[in-house]
Amino acid sequence: MEETKVKSKGQKLMEKLSYKKVNAWDKIPDREKIFSYCDDYKAYLDIGKTERQCVKETIKRAEKLGYENLDKIIDEDLPLTAGDKVYRNIKDKAVILAIIGKKPFDKGTRMVGAHVDAPRIDIKQYPLYENTDMAFFKTHYYGGIKKYQWLAIPLSLHGVILKKNGETVDVSIGEDENDPVFTITDLLPHLAKDQMDKKMSEAIVAEAMNALVGSIPYGDKEVSEKVKLNILNLLYEKYDIVEEDFFSAELELVPAFKAKDVGFDRSMIGAYGQDDRVCAYTSMTALFDIQDPEYTALCVLTDKEEIGSVGNTGAESRFLEDFLADLCNLTNENYTDIILRRCLNNSIMLSADVNAAYDPNYEGTHDKYNSAYLGRGLAILKFSGARGKSGASDAHAELLSKIRRVFNDNDVAWHTTELGAVDKGGGGTIAMYIANLGVDVVDCGVPVLSMHAPFEITSKVDVYTAYKGYKAFLKKLD
Ligand code: MN
Ligand code: MN
Repeated sequence: MEETKVKSKGQKLMEKLSYKKVNAWDKIPDREKIFSYCDDYKAYLDIGKTERQCVKETIKRAEKLGYENLDKIIDEDLPLTAGDKVYRNIKDKAVILAIIGKKPFDKGTRMVGAHVDAPRIDIKQYPLYENTDMAFFKTHYYGGIKKYQWLAIPLSLHGVILKKNGETVDVSIGEDENDPVFTITDLLPHLAKDQMDKKMSEAIVAEAMNALVGSIPYGDKEVSEKVKLNILNLLYEKYDIVEEDFFSAELELVPAFKAKDVGFDRSMIGAYGQDDRVCAYTSMTALFDIQDPEYTALCVLTDKEEIGSVGNTGAESRFLEDFLADLCNLTNENYTDIILRRCLNNSIMLSADVNAAYDPNYEGTHDKYNSAYLGRGLAILKFSGARGKSGASDAHAELLSKIRRVFNDNDVAWHTTELGAVDKGGGGTIAMYIANLGVDVVDCGVPVLSMHAPFEITSKVDVYTAYKGYKAFLKKLD
């Protein structure tokens, strides 16, 4: 028989008083569940390489589950009642999903908000040129990238081209095993002495990040730019487009590789775009798996977060407010603006965005005691911003109390975080724009290693915990 050790007075007191760190793997015994959930997450990542593709895939899945296009309901002048599921497609780049709750709208809603845009390399509006018998696309990077990470890797090309007649051509090249890919070249180390002596922020010049797209000349010696002409001809034959059509196009270069398991134990996921599609996927599936919520439950997937939530598909715009106004109107015959105002002021949102996980290879960037960690579940960021909390969205202690309770009551692993050590940098999310609407909001998301790199790392247990946490919040937070 084993000897039962008697705990000392100090040990008992420590147990009672101190805050305990948890490893989320210890909280969820069913590994199978975590792994199979993450298999579908990886599939979502592979389908959704751009914001447009994520919106399309999200709507496809929602429609299968009975979600209806809100704008169709408005056109047909139909009412909405508790239990109804609706969505709105915002210009193919953002989407809001909702299940109407039992409580009236002036009591508020419960929302989880994530973003589906990710750092990438955009193609310019006059992109194609030829130099020394090679054809290139001029590019303009999108979001905060470390430029060197995007060189010498396979890139796929996605987006839309609108032709002269207004017709849309969908482009997606580089994902299929047999597709060609594109790449931005890097200098060989042998000749990189000058480059290597430069500061990292200056070593790669943005205007030199031109993507290699071809090298066969068009067989006519009367033409001067033969390689360029050959590419234009290929594009004309395949898509029926001419060079001017690039002007009305949105084409994005993204890493061409697929989401992978990482580690001998397959405990992690390595993939492009996990910031913030990990929170998009987990909040979407959380909403899909709840029924008959008390408060109207929403999943808000925004665009343009990586460049400041600007524009009419970003969180700074009115699209969420407008969506809620429509819901208030369709559920209340005597709609007035005050119902929307009360709705916003009584609403709570989890701003579901990824967090900078502590990286033991880069000591000193984080405060060890207040940092997100891989494998410890959801990371809650009370405030964002930089330096003296400048530009922060700072959640009230009262809100944190509620969030902590709903997570504890539902056995959701969580921990607190800051975006790095004080004065080391910082950043923002959609939270500040949502707070401006009167909504109570706090950042709460999945810790990520190598954030904004072409290959970002998350822990599978954190992904599953996010799903569990968002579900508990949407369904149970009173
Ligand atoms: Mn993000
Ligand atoms: Mn980001």
